[in-house]
Amino acid sequence: MQDKSIFGDAKIFVKLFGFSTVFLMSLFVFRPFCKYFCPFGVFLGVFNKISPFRYKVDSSCNKCGMCRKKCKMGIKPYENPNSVECIRCGECINKCMKKSIHK
Ligand code: SF4
Ligand code: SF4
Repeated sequence: MQDKSIFGDAKIFVKLFGFSTVFLMSLFVFRPFCKYFCPFGVFLGVFNKISPFRYKVDSSCNKCGMCRKKCKMGIKPYENPNSVECIRCGECINKCMKKSIHK
C-alpha cells in the first residue's frame, strides 16, 4: 500500500517536472515540445524525405540568410530545403526577396 503511494507521488513529480521543463523552454524556443519531444513529429518528419511536396532552391539564391532568420524551426532552407524538422509553414518562401525557393 505504501509503495503505491510512493509511485503515485513520483508520477506527479515526473509530470510536473516535464511540464515545467517544456514551459520554461517555450520562453526561449519556438514550439519546444513539437521540436524536441513529439514522437508524432518524428514520425511525420520521416515522410519529408519522400513527400511529393518538396522545396527546391534555385541558383538565384545568394545565401543572404534571410530565410534562415525567419525560420522558427532554425533550418537553413538554402542548405537543407527538405529538412525533417520543416513544418512547411512557407515563411521562408514568403521572405525570400529573390524568390529562390519553390514548392
Ligand atoms: S532568402 Fe532566398 S536568397 Fe536568401 S538565402 Fe534564403 S533562399 Fe537564398
Ligand atoms: S517552410 Fe517554415 S519550417 Fe520549413 S524551412 Fe521554411 S520557414 Fe522553416
